[in-house]
This record gives sequence, C-alpha cells and structure tokens, in this order.
Amino acid sequence: MTEKTTRILVVDGSTVSRQILSRILQAEINEIEIDTCKTGKEAIQKLQKNNYDLITMALMLPDMDGMALCRDVRASKNQKYTPIIVVSGDADERLLQEGFKAGVTDYFDKSNGYKAFGDFIKSFLQRNASLVGHVLFIEDSKTAAAVICKILEKHGLKVTHTDSAEQAMSLLEKQHSDEKVADAFDLVITDFYLKGDLTGGDLLYAIRTRFHYSQQELPVLVITGNDDQKTQVEVFHAGGNDFVTKPIIEEVIMARIRLLLLIRHQFEALKQQAESMRWIASTDSLTGVRSKRYLVDNGEEFIQNSANQPVWAMLIDIDFFKKINDTLGHITGDHVLAELGTKLKLSFPNDMVVRFGGEEFSVLILNQTQEEALQKAETLRRDIEKLKPADVELTISIGLASMQDHPESSLSQILAFADKALYHSKETGRNRVSINLSDGIKLSPLHES
Ligand code: GH3
Ligand code: MG
Ligand code: MG
Ligand code: MG
Repeated sequence: MTEKTTRILVVDGSTVSRQILSRILQAEINEIEIDTCKTGKEAIQKLQKNNYDLITMALMLPDMDGMALCRDVRASKNQKYTPIIVVSGDADERLLQEGFKAGVTDYFDKSNGYKAFGDFIKSFLQRNASLVGHVLFIEDSKTAAAVICKILEKHGLKVTHTDSAEQAMSLLEKQHSDEKVADAFDLVITDFYLKGDLTGGDLLYAIRTRFHYSQQELPVLVITGNDDQKTQVEVFHAGGNDFVTKPIIEEVIMARIRLLLLIRHQFEALKQQAESMRWIASTDSLTGVRSKRYLVDNGEEFIQNSANQPVWAMLIDIDFFKKINDTLGHITGDHVLAELGTKLKLSFPNDMVVRFGGEEFSVLILNQTQEEALQKAETLRRDIEKLKPADVELTISIGLASMQDHPESSLSQILAFADKALYHSKETGRNRVSINLSDGIKLSPLHES
C-alpha cells in the first residue's frame, strides 16, 4: 500500500488552538495536509469544496454549536462518512449523550495535553486507514452493477466488474497461476444469482476449494435477496465471510467492506512479517551469508537433489584467526569476517554459502566436476591471499568432498568428509586445498601449479 496524503480540517474558534493543533499534527504525522477555519459557516463552505479524511472540531464554535455542525456534515452529500473528532476541554456529558446520534466518531479530552492529541490522531488514523484495495465484483444486473460500482469507486476502491461467475473464475485462475501478479484482488463481492450456469455460491465454493484462498487471504462478500435466509446460511457453509441484502444500503455495504479489507490487509502484513522473521533467522547478520540454522533446514535437500549433482561440500577455515583478534582486536576480526562473507557470496552466487562456525564457512556447491570444484577452491584460496580484508593479510585452508565420491552420505556425513580434508590442509602447512576422495585424502594437485 502506498502512503497517500491525509487531509485534515481543523475547526476551532481560538487562533492559538488552531495553531497548536496544526503544528502538532504536522510534526506527528507523515504526508499530511492541514486546513483550518474558525467558524461553522466557514467549515461548511470548505466541506462543500474540498475532500477531507478527518475533521477535528471544538465543541463550541463562535457562530454555532459543534454538535450542530456535526449533524450538518452527516447530512451533507460529500462528507457523510468523514470521521469527526470533537476536541473538548473536558469529557462533556452532552457529548456522551448526544454525540453518537449527531455522528461524532470519537472525542479527545484536551485536558490530556497537546502531545497526547498528536498520538491520539495518529493512532486513530492507523486504525481507520482509508480504504485501499482491488475488488472483483460480479453482478449480472446492469442497474445494480452501475449503482454499486459507483459507490465503491467513490470510496477510492479499484473495481473490476464481470457479469458471470465463469468470467470471474477465469480472472482468478489467471491470478492464481501467476505468483507475482501485480494487482491481485483484495476482495470479492458477488451477487448470488447470476446469468450463466454458475451461481455466486459456486464461485465462492471454487475460491475456497479449488484455489484454496482462505477467508483472510481473499474475503468474499455475497449479495443475497432480502428474504432469502436459506441462501444466507449456505453462504456461510461455503466459506463466505459475510452477506449483504438487496436493496443495497451504502452505509451497510461500506461498513462490511471496510472490515473485510482490514482483515485482508492485516493478513498480508502478518505474512510479510513472518517472511522477514524467517530471513533474519536464516541469515547471519555479521557476514550476510546463510546461517547454520538455514543449512540444517535446507542442506539435506540441497545435497540430495538430483538436479544439483555432482554436488560438493567445501569447508573453509581462516588460518591463525585467533592471532588477528589478539593483535588487532575483535572489531577488526569482525570486519574481516564480514568482508569474507561478501567475497564468498560473490564467488559462489548460485551455491549455498553458510557461516558454519565462528571463523569457519561452508559452501555447498552444485553441478561441478572434480576439476571444476578444485579449480574454484584454488581460485578462492588465491583470491583471499590477495584480498587483505580490513587491511589484514590472511590465508584460508579448505577441505572438499563430493557426493559422487561418497555416495549416500547424509549432510552431516559429507561435511565430516570435508572436515577431514580441511584438517589435512591445516596439518600440512595451511593456506591450501585438500580433497577427500573415495580412496583417501589428497592435497590439491593444483597447489603449486
Ligand atoms: P587455525 O584455524 O589456523 O588452526 O587457527 P585459529 O586461530 O584460526 O583457530 P581457532 O579455531 O583456535 O580460533 C578461532 C578464533 O576465532 C577463536 C575465536 O575467538 C574467534 N572467533 C570466533 N567467532 C568470532 C567472531 O564472530 N568475531 C571475532 N572477532 N572472532 C571470532
Ligand atoms: Mg443477479
Ligand atoms: Mg576454527
Ligand atoms: Mg581458524
């Protein structure tokens, strides 16, 4: 959802109050446009000309009662639904008794202070976000369709209208098969009785059972006849979120839509949150490569996947890293690790690069012959010799093992084979590559070449 400008009208008889309220709103809320006026009469003139997302008003205005202005707003053509917040000196008894009927949405008690006013409006706007969404609307009656489309569009919704369930189904089919569809539907509103063989009920049933959209992922609002209680019950059985009856009342259908879109948007937000949590857990924050957790969750599948064969496990351990820490400090040590992570990701863009331990990395390399794997490891070793991450000269030792030489190994077994080769590199002098073949461990033949 893109952030759009919120327009607020502040109605208050006191010049000082108007200034302070505007200043606070301006400071607290992004993308905001504030208009102010002094009297009820001015307010009415402004409301006829402009559209606002929110109105705040004092209870007492120089020329009229705030409650009366409120009733005028509710009776107006354009601003019928605009939320109205009354800002009053104290929780007025009258407000509690008459406010609801007059159409007051909420009130703010000024004695809580101006800072609290900013927070109040901010959280109010968050809870009452303006309507955004793409509606798939199915209605076969031309007149009914025109009326409802006009209502939806007036409230800022994007509408795609069809007159049969079959057509709607093919639109959904298209969206379903394309994962990254740009303008997915947020809500389906369908008439129950449609021309063609399928009813709105059949469409609803397909949405839930064929496309497997949940009630949160794609809410469905069904339009039924006024006295059609049997259908209303069926709608719920088939996984509908709610129904509205004909003739459509604007306030009622908009209230339902608002609620369903809120469900849909919250579901979307939750999904994104879960996705970013997964990324955090699967990535090592210092080096930017995958975490051990990720290797444990995905490594086995990776090495067994026939499309990845021949697959290699490579273990990398920095030589004398402890000395770097001891002489240059842990921060420098950290910088070295971070740069090494970046280098590894660049060198192995299609493979699974993992921070295996403190100063050890593993890479699961796919689709390489023995010559290619040895060449890559050797190239990496030489690159690191020249890299000087964080201005530190250092070398690495490498161990290699392939699933071809050690068939039917598990992830931990193949890593253990690579670890033996790594140990061999360390033992024979460090800064070298060793390979664990089916007939034993050897130093890379490329070493001195
Ligand atoms: P070699 O592998 O060549 O035998 O010697 P080494 O000095 O690298 O070996 P060792 O495994 O004994 O030391 C690894 C050191 O890495 C110990 C530990 O303090 C340090 N280390 C592990 N994780 C981090 C880290 O995240 N940041 C920093 N700065 N140091 C780390
Ligand atoms: Mg119909
Ligand atoms: Mg080590
Ligand atoms: Mg080491």
